[in-house]
Amino acid sequence: MRVVEEEPRVVVMEGSWSAERVIRDIVEDGVQEDPFYVMDLGEVVARYRHWKELMPRVEPFYAVKCNDDKLLVSTLAALGAGFDCASKAEIQLVTGLGVRPDRIIFANPAKPASHIRYASAAGVITMTFDSETELLKTKQYMPHAQLVIRIRCDATSAQCPLGIKFGCDPVAEAPRLLKLAAVMGLNVVGVSFHVGSGAQETGVYARAIQFARALFEAGDAAGHTMYLLDVGGGFPGNSGTCIREVSQVINSALELHFPSRSVRVIAEPGRYFAAAAYTLAAMVHATRKLPAKEGESEEEAHTMYFINDGVYGSFNCVLYDHQQVHAVPLEQSSERAQQCSVWGPSCDGLDCVLPAYALPPQRTGSWLVFRDMGAYTLPVASPFNGFPTPKVRAVVDKHLWSMLKELWPLTEANFVFGRVTSPQTPPPSPLDSDPPSPASPPSPPPLT
Ligand code: PLP
Repeated sequence: MRVVEEEPRVVVMEGSWSAERVIRDIVEDGVQEDPFYVMDLGEVVARYRHWKELMPRVEPFYAVKCNDDKLLVSTLAALGAGFDCASKAEIQLVTGLGVRPDRIIFANPAKPASHIRYASAAGVITMTFDSETELLKTKQYMPHAQLVIRIRCDATSAQCPLGIKFGCDPVAEAPRLLKLAAVMGLNVVGVSFHVGSGAQETGVYARAIQFARALFEAGDAAGHTMYLLDVGGGFPGNSGTCIREVSQVINSALELHFPSRSVRVIAEPGRYFAAAAYTLAAMVHATRKLPAKEGESEEEAHTMYFINDGVYGSFNCVLYDHQQVHAVPLEQSSERAQQCSVWGPSCDGLDCVLPAYALPPQRTGSWLVFRDMGAYTLPVASPFNGFPTPKVRAVVDKHLWSMLKELWPLTEANFVFGRVTSPQTPPPSPLDSDPPSPASPPSPPPLT
């Protein structure tokens, strides 16, 4: 059974704070036993602003699959982002938050028919395709769709390559599909690609944009009106990474191949917005010291640490997203790091988070902190073996909160004022008496 809280709860903070300090405040009385996330709403806002500054021409359409936490999605909606949805449920989530359907792209090139019908009824008409059968389905269920052809153009290396599954060949297949769509009376309005999630090459965006230019010509020649370029995802998201280099590549390629501002450019970043905003805290609930091997001292012997979240929970990202996670003890120690492994709570031998690691000795009840855990973790996590998936404690600075409140009708009931702060923080006070927030979010121009 998966327990999901009905509404997001946000803790509003005054003064400086860090995820580690919040974690310490939560666990210090020893009552907390389950794993949990601290989500920094400010990180999401800062990243949105940074994106706008570096790529003013590229509108971010957040890829909901990356992390469908309602608070993250509603914050991005409040800031004016659009959304990449891959299914009926994702469309339901986003429109349920008040986002207009013209701010959504249904970016799944292989869609179940019932999901297309749902999208059509919801007014979501911009969607991707990469095959003839998807065109046939579109003709049947949404003949008025604004179609975007997804082409394949892979980064030389990526954390999760996607080209193996989606994207038609830009030379051998795409021109024919554009002609076929025209013959079928369907509207193709643009080109999309995804270079691979966690792409480790930036030049690939220039190659893909060049392919897209050629396909804009081919589409126009086939009778379509091409105006939408979707540069997909693949942007880095961990703390300490930056999108400056990739933004320069994209901006220059756009100037070269799409100088006209009549072409609308969107992207589908997931990891970029989600990863760094979430810090996971997991507790060591059991330890097992293995016998020293020959030649090893007692101190050098391997220790197994069992924590309350594993590969069936948040750390599914180790298996599916090929993430390298790092454990940092919440309590600093002057003791020497020793060889160890970190295991999840289930009774499965596969449930290993870190097979070969080094930590200063930890005891039962110690907490480990894992940063950059917001991407491709929570939506996949399961409560296998009866271990609950972590809840999210969102934290936001007071001033930022006032701004967000203006933008989005987050109800006061969802906020706790300064509840998990250190003793310096003022005691809980009543929420200020701002006028009610506007009923609907700001609306950027439609995607049609
Ligand atoms: N768009 C599509 C169609 C995807 O499949 C994905 C990820 O799988 C994304 C966007 C998000 O990619 P990223 O998290 O690399 O930005």
